This record gives sequence, structure tokens and C-alpha cells, in this order.
Amino acid sequence: MRNTIITMLTVALLASSCARQPKMENECQYAQSQTAFAFWSPVAEQMEVRIYDEAVSDQPSVISLKKGRGDIWRGTIRGDQAGKFYTVRSFQNGEWSAESPGIFAKAVSINGQRGAIIDLQRTNPEGWDQDRRPAMPDKTDIVVYETHLRDFTMSPNSGIEHKGKFLALTEEGTKTADSLASGIDHLKELGITHLQVLPVFDYGSVDEQKAECSKLNAEGSYNWGYDPVNYNAPEGGYSTDPSDPAVRIREMKEMVQALHKAGIRVVMDVVYNHTYDVMGCALGRVVPQYFYRLNEDGSYANGSGCGNETASDHAMMRQFMVESVCYWAREYHIDGFRFDLMGIHDQETMRAIRAALDKIDPTILTYGEGWAAMAPAYPYEQLAMKQWTYTMPRVGAFSDDIRNALIGSPFDHERGFASGNTACKSAVCNGLVGCIGFEDPNGQLGAEPLRWAGEPMQHVSYITCHDNYCLRDRIEASAGEESEATKIRMNKLAQTAVLLSQGMSFIYGGEELFRTKQGIDNSYQSPDSINIIPWENKARYNDLYEYYRAMIAIRHAHKGFRLGSAEAVREHVSFLPIENEQVIVYRIANLEGIDSAKTLLVVFNGSAEAVETALPEGHYTILAEDGKADVEGLLCTEGPVLRVAPYSATVLAESER
Ligand code: CA
Repeated sequence: MRNTIITMLTVALLASSCARQPKMENECQYAQSQTAFAFWSPVAEQMEVRIYDEAVSDQPSVISLKKGRGDIWRGTIRGDQAGKFYTVRSFQNGEWSAESPGIFAKAVSINGQRGAIIDLQRTNPEGWDQDRRPAMPDKTDIVVYETHLRDFTMSPNSGIEHKGKFLALTEEGTKTADSLASGIDHLKELGITHLQVLPVFDYGSVDEQKAECSKLNAEGSYNWGYDPVNYNAPEGGYSTDPSDPAVRIREMKEMVQALHKAGIRVVMDVVYNHTYDVMGCALGRVVPQYFYRLNEDGSYANGSGCGNETASDHAMMRQFMVESVCYWAREYHIDGFRFDLMGIHDQETMRAIRAALDKIDPTILTYGEGWAAMAPAYPYEQLAMKQWTYTMPRVGAFSDDIRNALIGSPFDHERGFASGNTACKSAVCNGLVGCIGFEDPNGQLGAEPLRWAGEPMQHVSYITCHDNYCLRDRIEASAGEESEATKIRMNKLAQTAVLLSQGMSFIYGGEELFRTKQGIDNSYQSPDSINIIPWENKARYNDLYEYYRAMIAIRHAHKGFRLGSAEAVREHVSFLPIENEQVIVYRIANLEGIDSAKTLLVVFNGSAEAVETALPEGHYTILAEDGKADVEGLLCTEGPVLRVAPYSATVLAESER
């Protein structure tokens, strides 16, 4: 107990005593003439680096480090050390810690056990110097598509050679068995702007020696990867040769480069909120306890639900996160970060991350899950919870509000607005404007409009992601008795609201191909047969795919659906007063000089019956109706009455006659 109290005191002191804040990313600095090591530890009594000739050899040569300014322990080894491996360990309280690659290893051996000494310059693919982030003239252009590398490419029908690997996303010209575009060409054709990949940093749950990608369902080959081991090295399971530390780095860069060439930006899913375990990970070994929050009894706090939670409020953990995202943005040209369980981090850290990324490129995206799995051991009002999103400018949060309103909550099997629930209308309206506290004179947003986003782009509009049911399964769970045709209508209706909302649009990969996960709502380690995107569905459900594609094109073509600021939303958006709880009339008006249309009008009908509504006077092009959509327009109408088919949205653009 006494030891615990002393340790906690130390940790508390450390939390506030890092004014100088040395760089953490320079733990291992390679040059041809020498390799220099520098590890931070204010509590170690001795530290040493152990150099190994091979990834698995024993008999290291040992370098004792010397403590210098800023509690940095330094040592140098002369000569060209490229190709060798290293670990670090520290001596405190009478014993040596276990070895680890350090907390900022940029290259690692198979399964991340040792750091690797390599020349990062030599991992750059040809043309890397010319690689640029795709132009994004307007910050509101974003449409994010989330996928797991294995889900996206493992299907026997993907037409992709390097299934389950980084290189799968470098292959152009791939086709499904029906000769439709797959892989990277599919993404281009769909019109998304950002690809968000599930964790691709080194994680612990897949044995890289067994990350079998030549056949489906190889045992132990699949995991989402929310179990970080080395935050700053790519996962070896996605490499064609995990035993060569340089290969995974080069291949991940090749993936980024190919996506950039295709005009697509890359968002990394980052999981700084917890580690795979504590004592098995460098964060737990190098400076024991410091990087984690502890409960009053000295046990590890567990806001992540995974056994521990990190302490972004501790100065060096905060700095670690800042340096880590900046490293990925600089070294790998990553264009955005999705923060897993962002609600575990404190707001100040998220603002620090935003400020640091702004210095690299202000168009780098930042958003995350504004919640935690369990209550974090930190004052709620200082955490990056969704409720406080407006205090973190240009950091977005996933909107469970629009999700639950459209298709129902993941925690029950109720229907949502798009599947016939009559109690969700006002929440959908709040979501359409991005939960900015929109005062609606027509009363369609309810008595107290939702407000947690300062600007609409901080509102990540989505209905599904890797967590919980995919869309087809969620609709099945609540409306299983309906026909498949009706379920597809509901699917289109819900996604129309996502894609035409003022927030940032986000879709889960494979929804456009009517994927199912066979009712599995947590497929984190399910076999490929559950998780793969079924490319054969692109032909089978081509009507659905074409609808998604057209709706994305409509979003891109009409600035009115992505006005970009709360002020503009308040100026241009209104909801017409409709008493029917299953009908929403969403109107964006006075768009001269902003959009090719004077007015945009969307009528959402969430009921099983066709409804009629009065159309404000004007000449309208119908961009979508009854489950069909075309950015060029399907036909024209002047009203005065509009008939909207069951479970569908009609989208109209008013122009000069
Ligand atoms: Ca790994």
C-alpha cells in the first residue's frame, strides 16, 4: 500500500513537471555513421539499450545510457547499425523492467517485439517526394468511407491480387467477376473523398507469422486491431513480409501514394485511449504507470473497457499523442485521424493535436468517438465528450443522434424514422443541420434543439460503422418482416439523410453493396466470411449501388447541402411545418451565388404510405425520387402537389424556368 501511495505521488508530480517537454519521437535516430538513442524517464535509476543482430537472437551488446537534461537518457553506437534490432529497459525500485522497443519505435520486428534500426529514407517508394495530398478546395467536400483492409479485399470476387495487404489498395483496374470496378477504382467511381482504414498501426491480436491472406478464414488472422502495441509502426499482418521491418513501412506508403493518385485522402483510425495490455506494452514498461490513469486504490482505471485507459492529461502522454499524429502526417502523408473513444482524452489534448496538425496542413481531418466505454477516471466536463465538441474547433464527433433517429439505437431493436418510427422526426431534423442548436420557428426540431457542435462540419453524420450492426442487419433486426424491396427503400432513405445533411458524411464500407454480417453486431474477430465486402453484390444490387453513387454526386454538386458554417445553415435552412410525424420537408433557400439551384428541397417520407405535400411555387428539377437518383435530374415538376413514395426521399433543385 505504501509503495502504491509513493508511486501515485510520483505520477501526480510527473503529470505537472514536464515543462521542458523533450521530443519523444527521437528515441532511435539512425545515421550511417552512428545510431543515437534517447529515452525519457524521470524515474529510472539506470537505463540501457540492448542491440541484437537479429530479430530473435539473444546475446545483445549492451549500451548504458546516461541521464541528461529533461530526464532524457542518451547513448550512441558508432558505425552503420542498419538491419539490427534494439530494446530498452530501465532499472528502478531494485529491479530491471522487461525489455521493450520503447514507446516511439518507428520500425519493429515481427509482432513488434523489438525496435529495428533502419534508414527511413530508404523506405520511400519511388516518387514519394512528389506525393501530395489530393486537392480539397472546399472543406465541406468530405465524404468518408470506412473499411478494414481485409474486409475490403479478401473476397474471392474482389479481383485483387494482394488480398488483405496494404498493396491491395495500390492495384488499379481490378474487376469483380461481373467486370465491374473493384478496389481502389470502385472508391473512385463511388465518389468518396476520404478512406478511413481501421487500425493499421502495429496491434497485438493477430500473430503476424500467421496473418494468412492466401485463404479465407485462416484461424486467428482477423481482428479489427483496437489493441495497440506500437503506435508509430505499421501492422505487420498487412505487409507481404512482416519479418522485414522496412517492407511494411514501404508498402503502407505505397498504399497512401496510390490512394492520393486516385484523388482519395487517407484517414487513420488511432487508438491512443488504451493499450493491448499494460505490462506487455512499452507504455507500461518504460515509465511504469505514468502513461495511464489510476483509480484511487492504485489499480488501473478502465474507461476503455479494455483493462486500462491512458492519461492524455499527463504532459508527456499528451505530447506523445501530438508527436505521434504529426509523425504519421509527415512521414506517411496521412490526411486525417479518427480517434477511438475520444471521450477518454481531455479537451486540451485534442486542441493541442489540432494546433500541431494545423502547422503541417490545416486540411488534415480530426474527429472521433465522443464517448467512452465506461466512466474515465477524469473530470467529465474536461473530457472530449460529444457534449463538449463545440469547445474543440474543427474536431468532429460521431453523431449517435442522427444514427439512432434514422435507424434506431444499437442498444435495442426499435425502428428509426427511416423504417417507420413516428417518434424520431425532430431528432432527424436536428441531425440534418448538424446539432448546432438550430432554432426552428416551425417547431420541427422539438422544444429544445440539440446543440453540441459549434459548426456543422463537427457533426459526423452516419448511421453505421464497423461497430454494431451493418445497415442491412440493423434494418433486418427491427423490420425483419418487411420485404427485401422495402428494406432497400429504408436503406436508401436513411443514407439520403446522411449524405444530404449539413454535417460531414460518413459511410461504412460495403453498405453500398448491401453487405450483411449475418446478424453479428460485433464482428471484431469474426471470420472473413462474416466481414468481407461481397463484391458479387455490386451486380446483384446494382440499383442500390447506383443510388449511393448518385447521392454522393448530388452532395458534391450542391453546396447547399454542405453550407459549412452554422451561420450559413441558420440563414438558408428551414423545415416546413408539416404535422405528419413521418414526413420532413428540409428546405435550403436563397442560394443565389452559392449553388446552381436557387432552392433545394428534400422531402423525407418515413412511412409505409405514399404522402402528398404542397410544393412551394417554382420550377424544380427532380434529382431523386422513389429510390432513383441522378445528379443531372430525372424529370421536372412545378407542383403544386408532390407525391412522395413510401420510405423514400424526393430531392428537388429549383432553377430559373
Ligand atoms: Ca502486430
